[in-house]
Amino acid sequence: MATKATQAAKAMAGKALKTAQAARTAQAARASRTSGASGPSDYDAIIVGGGHNGLTAAAYLARSGARTLVLEARPKTGGAATTEAPWPDAPEFKVTRLSYVMSLLPPTIINDLQLQKHGYKIYPMGPYYQAFPEGGSIKLYADDAKRNHDEVSKWSKQDADAMPRWDAWLAGLADVLGPLLLTVPPNLGSRKPRDLQETLRLAWRHRGLDVRTIADVTRLMSMSIADLLDDWFESPQVKGALAVNGVIGTWAGPYEPGTAYVMAHHSIGDVGDGHLGNWGFQEGGMGAVADAIANAARENGAEIRTDARVSRILLNNGRAAGVELENGQQLTAKVVVSSLHPRTAFLDHVGRANLPDDFVTDIEHWKTRSGVVKINLALAELPDFTADPGTNLQEHHTGSVEMAPTMPYIEQAFQDARNGLPAVRPFSDGVIPTAFDKTLVPEGYHIMSLFTQWVPSDWNEAPHTEELQAYADRMIDCYNEVAPNFKSSIIHTDIVGPYQMEHDYGLIGGNIFHGELSLEQLFHMRPAPGFADYRTPVPGLYYASSATHAGGGVCGIPGMQAAKAALADRRAAVRSLRRR
Ligand SMILES: Cc1cc2nc3c(=O)[nH]c(=O)nc-3n(C[C@H](O)[C@H](O)[C@H](O)COP(=O)(O)OP(=O)(O)OC[C@H]3O[C@@H](n4cnc5c(N)ncnc54)[C@H](O)[C@@H]3O)c2cc1C
Repeated sequence: MATKATQAAKAMAGKALKTAQAARTAQAARASRTSGASGPSDYDAIIVGGGHNGLTAAAYLARSGARTLVLEARPKTGGAATTEAPWPDAPEFKVTRLSYVMSLLPPTIINDLQLQKHGYKIYPMGPYYQAFPEGGSIKLYADDAKRNHDEVSKWSKQDADAMPRWDAWLAGLADVLGPLLLTVPPNLGSRKPRDLQETLRLAWRHRGLDVRTIADVTRLMSMSIADLLDDWFESPQVKGALAVNGVIGTWAGPYEPGTAYVMAHHSIGDVGDGHLGNWGFQEGGMGAVADAIANAARENGAEIRTDARVSRILLNNGRAAGVELENGQQLTAKVVVSSLHPRTAFLDHVGRANLPDDFVTDIEHWKTRSGVVKINLALAELPDFTADPGTNLQEHHTGSVEMAPTMPYIEQAFQDARNGLPAVRPFSDGVIPTAFDKTLVPEGYHIMSLFTQWVPSDWNEAPHTEELQAYADRMIDCYNEVAPNFKSSIIHTDIVGPYQMEHDYGLIGGNIFHGELSLEQLFHMRPAPGFADYRTPVPGLYYASSATHAGGGVCGIPGMQAAKAALADRRAAVRSLRRR
């Protein structure tokens, strides 16, 4: 028996060797065709990654007539914009597993891609709501100054009077920063005529800014959210409420410089109705946003393949020439757009040897931590808050249902994690999308999504399953203190920590934006100085990930800009050919 088995094993090994040799020969033949460069390409454009940015790039390229292919590693598209049914025994419950609210997708993209026709439908969120463990609650309304004044007066008359000035101040800054989101960052310091022209154009556009506005922008970019709020408000409750946006997805507590800008990044969005900083729920969850973009791409002729993991980008004389899939298949294209995390896109797929040393160093130094844990819950009934009783749907269930009572509370959660421990009392940006969206659950049930922080920044290196469960239990206990039915109302729990974010979704380091929104990684530095214009050191390779300017968030801007850069270069090449 043993001899027969050994012979069979040898025969199989010999066959496998021959098959592998044949595959290698075929691959070499394909590779030599690729390096020949004269033959027609399989596609005009290949997009690596079918997250919402990759899909946006595909939609724009396909719209221009390019034969476009999207390659997505997972069985479904959407990346971090995904609606899933995480409980196999309860498939009728769906959650927006990672990202959970919309605000940053500009009307330009919504209109260009006709996303409403493809299912893009937003329910504007209700107020910000925090119930306090010591009793009482606060609600903040995005666009109702009178009710805001009444609510804030419960905690501080002075803060209530300051609130309209704060809103106006933020609106003024949004007028400056908002258009910058759609601006291609200039290559600051470059002496090339095109770069100088872009820098001058940006300076000219902002020539109207006065000394005060520039000072305000400087403050916003450099201050901590805590210092900024201390300048404006006195009550811990109001400051806690306004601090949350400064630390979302950030490996920094509210006392760290730069967090004021993170607050602005999350406050200048617009769901398309012109309201500053308004957030909303997509019907069908965030996956439906990605689906709408995918449908727009398909309608324009793009092909989308799932279960198609790319393993490297093919180069021909230093130019991008296509991709190789994990299964060895090679596909050629004149334009390749990667929408993956910079370490994957450049260090793994292009390779250090094919990139300038400075650029490699910049990508190696790219900061990509956040210590976020997403907790998705199926609830049998709505939270019954002691401060605002009742399990019937009320206004305070319709917005963000927070557990971030004060800045010191938030800071302590960060300090725990910085000291190598999961937060004892984590903070949470909670939402109940089923307050509006009935497509996610059976009648009478609800989904609650808790975006929580922090666990230690190295929890992307191991699953930490039991510790994550204990962390989630503590998070639930915090809500239970203010809504005593909370714990008993939970029928299913789904916990996604940094390890799963990295391994299942490609979010390296567990950072939710493909890289931190810290000052040294913004605008012309995102993802590296000299390459913030959605182009890369490799001609023909464009970059569309959230690690470029205006990312992260479900905003589609990197995807749109990368496609526009590729199309602009193609037009320039055609012009120059005609001139010859
Ligand atoms: C927990 C969490 C909460 C968030 N909350 C919000 C929110 O409420 N609102 C908001 O606006 N933003 C939020 N964000 C951020 C936002 O979701 C991301 O910035 C955005 O979705 C990233 O989009 P992307 O297309 O750039 O990248 P991704 O969504 O990461 O897409 C990249 C795609 O590439 C695929 N891929 C990876 N490797 C390969 C390979 N080798 N070959 C082929 N394909 C590959 C991945 O599977 C993925 O589909 C959140 C993120 C997280 C993680």
